[in-house]
Amino acid sequence: MPDVSQYQKIKNSLPENVTLVCVSKTYPVEDIKVIYNAGQRDFGENKVQEILAKKDLLPNDIRWHLIGHLQTNKVKQILPYVSLIQSVDSEKLLNKIQQQSLEFGQVTSILLQIKIAEEDTKYGIGFKEAELILEKFKEKNYPNIELKGLMGMASFTENQDQLKAEMNSLSSFYDAYKKQYSFSILSMGMSSDYSLAIKCGSNLVRIGSAIFGNRY
Ligand SMILES: *Cc1c(COP(=O)(O)O)cnc(C)c1O
Repeated sequence: MPDVSQYQKIKNSLPENVTLVCVSKTYPVEDIKVIYNAGQRDFGENKVQEILAKKDLLPNDIRWHLIGHLQTNKVKQILPYVSLIQSVDSEKLLNKIQQQSLEFGQVTSILLQIKIAEEDTKYGIGFKEAELILEKFKEKNYPNIELKGLMGMASFTENQDQLKAEMNSLSSFYDAYKKQYSFSILSMGMSSDYSLAIKCGSNLVRIGSAIFGNRY
């Protein structure tokens, strides 16, 4: 079962400008309802199918965040239901989101997922490639996409110096482009490292296991 008092403790500990997204992947809708009833509306999932299955069993004022890799062939299915796609990690995916958003007559909010971890298992685009993509936004190639900022995931390590270096690299990149692109969201930090992430400039944290308990 999720720990409501832990949820409230985390929620109350966050600075006012920091958004909490509760990462509910793998947890059942009963658990999500408990946290929903405590006032939470932003939930994160890493699979399209899981959002589609859960949304019908839960109140429709939940804002779903997609935080896992999105395949282009699933864009059409998820677009009507997702509040923010945090995990946009290729130009191919951007093009698909643009095309499908135009078809649906909607504007889709996204973050670019930047690879900051050393491990090469993590998705995300490098800083160089991100710069090229930002150029395409400047050229107005994506009228149906609202680029709200950046997302990143630091290495799975206890090494605070490494975590800090990775997080600061993303934070600096964010700051460099924030004004020009009207960025408002820097999504960084999970259960194990969110305090540090906030110190490094994050204003959206994605917290799962610290609230819901160990994953099933
Ligand atoms: C699972 C996940 C989280 C949350 O991880 P916890 O350790 O459970 O807080 C955050 N971000 C992403 C991208 C995830 O996949």
